[in-house]
Amino acid sequence: MTLTNWAGNIAFDAARVHRPSTVDQVREVVAGAERVRVLGSGHSFNDISVTPADLVSVAGLPVEPRIDAAAGTVTVAGGVRYGELAAFLDAQGYALHNLGSLPHISIAGAVATGTHGSGAALGNLATAVAGVELVTAGGDLVRLARGDADFPGAVVSLGALGVVVGVTLDVLPAYAIRQFVFEHLPRSVLDARWEDIATAGYSVSLFTGWAGDTVDQLWLKLADGEEPDGFGAAPARRTMHPIAAMSPESCTEQGGVPGPWHRRLPHFKLEFTPSSGEELQTEFFVARDDAVEAFAAVERLRHLVTPVLQISEIRVVAADELWLSPMYRRDSVALHFTWIRDVERVSPVVAALEEALAPLAARPHWGKVFHHAARPERLTDFLALRDRLDPDRKFGNAFVERHLAAE
Ligand SMILES: Cc1cc2nc3c(=O)[nH]c(=O)nc-3n(C[C@H](O)[C@H](O)[C@H](O)COP(=O)(O)OP(=O)(O)OC[C@H]3O[C@@H](n4cnc5c(N)ncnc54)[C@H](O)[C@@H]3O)c2cc1C
Repeated sequence: MTLTNWAGNIAFDAARVHRPSTVDQVREVVAGAERVRVLGSGHSFNDISVTPADLVSVAGLPVEPRIDAAAGTVTVAGGVRYGELAAFLDAQGYALHNLGSLPHISIAGAVATGTHGSGAALGNLATAVAGVELVTAGGDLVRLARGDADFPGAVVSLGALGVVVGVTLDVLPAYAIRQFVFEHLPRSVLDARWEDIATAGYSVSLFTGWAGDTVDQLWLKLADGEEPDGFGAAPARRTMHPIAAMSPESCTEQGGVPGPWHRRLPHFKLEFTPSSGEELQTEFFVARDDAVEAFAAVERLRHLVTPVLQISEIRVVAADELWLSPMYRRDSVALHFTWIRDVERVSPVVAALEEALAPLAARPHWGKVFHHAARPERLTDFLALRDRLDPDRKFGNAFVERHLAAE
């Protein structure tokens, strides 16, 4: 059976697929291979993990989460899914600062692409990384920790530096979240009160089809002491799926019922298919201050966007210092598009959006469908780090060569 990504639009086509069950086996595979890519849980929508040579999955490494209460961290195998780690942490009275919309993704894979949730004060998931342990090109085990000069380059790595076998993440005391959904936010209010809306709760998401004079849904995930403000939108009278016509069975509990952080921060439950299930995704990041301009730019392309769109989501993410992070030194608004699963029809629309958002210096999500990424500000530093860790580009592939070319 052909191995594909979650969306089914990318076949991995590797000559060999390795599923090591120990770190020593990972080191052996890497040392003996000419070209290697690592596969996480396969939730990316482009050819980021594709290689004609050796593909390594670290999903079979022992999970072994270890909490260091004094340091406020947990160390865990890179292939573990967020949902699994979250349940473990919560049972021990700990939490992560944020989660993506789905708990199904592997930690190392999500971190490698700068995957994020929402929250004006919350950095992407990679910002919780305090240390990484990776098997580099010669089969050596290298540990990098926050504070090391190379560390900011090694976290959002696009899998181009080595196989991440262990990740150390910051933890917090477990906390409760209440999730509220509002419907039909007047479109004019989004522009007029953007800053208030973006900062209206611990985590804020808006879902829109970019048509009509309302935004379909406003989701607020509130921490202790925060009260919901719908900004003139109506409280939802039933549990909602971001695509209103779909069954909300897969969605985490709403209606303001307090619950553990890991059962409210993701939109979707671990035991169900997330999102629509038949889709492609694209996401662009611009400065949070440029959000209103970015909304207008998308709406000018409404005639192209809406025929291939299932739903869009607007989120906010705090700036960080990670070299290849899409939020590098920029508080960001994330404009997400869940498309129909039709590459040929979606591709030109993505190109049109890239052109329209280029004046705002939009950056793409590394794990989603895009054509062109502007040169990351710290690319030279990243390439120098790669030259040190992987001089022969063992961990390269077509995606990396295309988007991280020196010039
Ligand atoms: C339904 C759905 C919802 C999504 N929601 C969100 C969201 O809310 N926010 C968001 O930002 N993104 C979201 N995404 C995108 C997703 O988070 C990213 O594509 C993420 O990279 C997926 O993690 P993965 O483990 O599947 O990585 P993969 O797609 O398997 O791999 C991604 C990259 O990570 C590298 N990698 C994986 N494991 C390792 C390792 N152990 N060592 C070194 N490199 C490794 C791979 O080589 C590759 O370069 C969503 C995707 C889907 C399908």
